[in-house]
Amino acid sequence: MSRTVTLLLLVVVIAFSYFAYFNPGSITLNLWKDKVMELPVIGVVLLSLVLGSLLVLIAFGIRGLRKTYVQVQGRMKKRRREKAEELYNRGVDAHLSGKEEQAVKLLEDAVQKDPDFIFPFFRLGTVYLRQGKYDQAIELHQKARVAHPKNLRLLLMLVDDYVAAGKSEDAAVILREIIRKDDGNRTALTILRDIQEGRDEWEEAIETQKKLLKLSGKEQSEQSHLRGLQYQCSVNFIDKGEHDRALKLLRDILKESPDFIPAILSQGEAYIAMGKLDEGLKVLVDGYRTHKKPVFLQVMAQKLMDQENPRKLIEIYRELLEKMPQDVFVNLFYGKTCLRLEMIDDGFMALKKVESLGYDSPLLHALLGEANARRERFQEAIEEFRKFIDISLGMNPHYQCGNCGHTAMQWSARCESCGMWDTSTIPGLVDTPTPPAAAPRYDSEE
Ligand SMILES: [Zn+2]
Repeated sequence: MSRTVTLLLLVVVIAFSYFAYFNPGSITLNLWKDKVMELPVIGVVLLSLVLGSLLVLIAFGIRGLRKTYVQVQGRMKKRRREKAEELYNRGVDAHLSGKEEQAVKLLEDAVQKDPDFIFPFFRLGTVYLRQGKYDQAIELHQKARVAHPKNLRLLLMLVDDYVAAGKSEDAAVILREIIRKDDGNRTALTILRDIQEGRDEWEEAIETQKKLLKLSGKEQSEQSHLRGLQYQCSVNFIDKGEHDRALKLLRDILKESPDFIPAILSQGEAYIAMGKLDEGLKVLVDGYRTHKKPVFLQVMAQKLMDQENPRKLIEIYRELLEKMPQDVFVNLFYGKTCLRLEMIDDGFMALKKVESLGYDSPLLHALLGEANARRERFQEAIEEFRKFIDISLGMNPHYQCGNCGHTAMQWSARCESCGMWDTSTIPGLVDTPTPPAAAPRYDSEE
């Protein structure tokens, strides 16, 4: 005990003795009914002092305790974070050096140590995803969401998890949540659109695409993606037998982009599917005459052969040939159909004309080989078949994407490789062929 305190106590004792000496009386305190207590004056003063001091002490004590508790908590939290950070750093190092199992262990420990520390959740989720542990990634990121409900990166990672796990509907729920909070989030809108596309939810995808288009300031690529989705939606309507809805949508597309070939083809197909054969054929023939794309002829031939109506097909080809006798594709398809119908001479003539127009393809040589064989000109037939084999990739012309170069045996509205619409062309020839000026002619009608 210090000297100051001893001195202070001495002063207090003297002061009290002084006070007690001059106040010798006593005070009667009524504590209870009939319960009385006699106390000397100095006793009452002392008691009051002690009680007051005690109260002050208790008040200060509680405050101090609380402060200490908060401090201890903070220190523990800080230590946990430091430990988690250390585990995280080691985990990242392990991951970067290709020690994946070790990385997982360390990162799992880091997550366990301090769930408020978000970075281990990102890294561990990425590793889980790479390992194909989709459900674990989902569980992990859902857990992180409790502490960080608004973290955009976390939400987008959760979307990736769900997509990877094939739970696209769950991914869409999260994306809609993000978009509800921020309707200008192009990333979320783009992923949502792709999910809707993947689920054949064309009408929903169109709505999402319209928002994206608006946000992009009417960018050309977004505009053509919208057109593609509208087209896909119309195809879906046709598949479901809702031809009127399909035709309305197709008319809308063609009003905006009259050169969009897939829409013209679908328009023709829709009419034919509805039983309006002449209207459908007119759309296809007009489409060919305007755009000179052989796919119109191919679809038309397919439809009429399906209906076992080759006479109609021949009739249309002849009408077309009257108007465009030098047309490569009309002659080629006409020649092919003639051979099928045993009209060997007409077929041969048409095919020879194709050759004279400078067109070269396996299909042409195969057909010429067949025509020569039917005419019993076997040597010429063999030569044609040899040419066919030399450059052959099959009996049909193969199509190539004008955007990415992907080749396919079938014409398709959308490239299965790059996803662009209306890029399918036959390579090695110009879509609008102009006959060479000095070409020899085999046209019997001229
Ligand atoms: Zn492509």
